[in-house]
Amino acid sequence: MPDTPVPDEAGILAEAGPVTAFWRDLGLPGLVDVHAHFMPPNVLAKVWAFFDSGRAAGQEWPIVYRWPQAERVALLRAFGVRRFNTLLYPHKPGMAAWLNAWAAGFAARTPDALHSATFFPEPGAGAYVAEAIGAGARLFKAHVQVGGYDPRDPLLDPVWGMLAEARVPVVVHCGSGPRPGPYTGPEPISGVLARHARLMMIIAHLGAPEYHEFLDLTRRYPGVHLDTTMAFTDFMERVAPFPAALRPRLAAAADRILLGSDFPNIPYRYLHQLQALARLDLGPDWLRAVCHDNAARLLGL
Ligand SMILES: [Zn+2]
Repeated sequence: MPDTPVPDEAGILAEAGPVTAFWRDLGLPGLVDVHAHFMPPNVLAKVWAFFDSGRAAGQEWPIVYRWPQAERVALLRAFGVRRFNTLLYPHKPGMAAWLNAWAAGFAARTPDALHSATFFPEPGAGAYVAEAIGAGARLFKAHVQVGGYDPRDPLLDPVWGMLAEARVPVVVHCGSGPRPGPYTGPEPISGVLARHARLMMIIAHLGAPEYHEFLDLTRRYPGVHLDTTMAFTDFMERVAPFPAALRPRLAAAADRILLGSDFPNIPYRYLHQLQALARLDLGPDWLRAVCHDNAARLLGL
């Protein structure tokens, strides 16, 4: 599928206006997005082809920001996203170290990008994760569904241990949405937390569709957080609606929820994620914590 057309400057400003108004009205200095993706162009092309195939969620997934990399970075800056990460993840062995090298280079060239890294259960994972932490990685990503691995794999035990020790957060896609994998759901990752109770973990997509179980984990473990990626949007409400009865739990977990967007791989405009949070009606303090302050604290910004 061809790239979507990049708007001209006036178009960018028109789109950015309501996004910057959103955080300015809250009195914030900008947004922090803990769940954006930047990847080597050939890898991203494969991810986009997967979404095009309709296999990602069993429904149309027309990616809005299928743009060249420089234009995607420029748009996040126009939105006032102060920091964003570059989540990448391998689907097979032998890939993670190469992805980490790319992410380190991207972060070095892009001061507002958080230096991110990843891993796979394979011999050597401990060594390249130690190297990435030493090189300044601020955030890791693990994709249990795409990777198809058990997060309790003994090959990962030293990895979780190092991340817990270094207090480096890891974004984990382990909910069973949009499609389950053999090791998705709350159980396998709970086994990891039982062994490494100090892990700073960010459960992607608010744990969809197992919202309840993953919210429970925030009560049991002080380091467990959830990102909002796609949650509460019209798109996600069709796939995995958030139960209204759980709303009070969102308020109670106000210090554990972090803005994530899945930019650029989203089938709607960036503003919609922000509007989806605002319409929960949890108040400006909740929005300030979620859209900026929690991530600033967790990542030491
Ligand atoms: Zn994602």
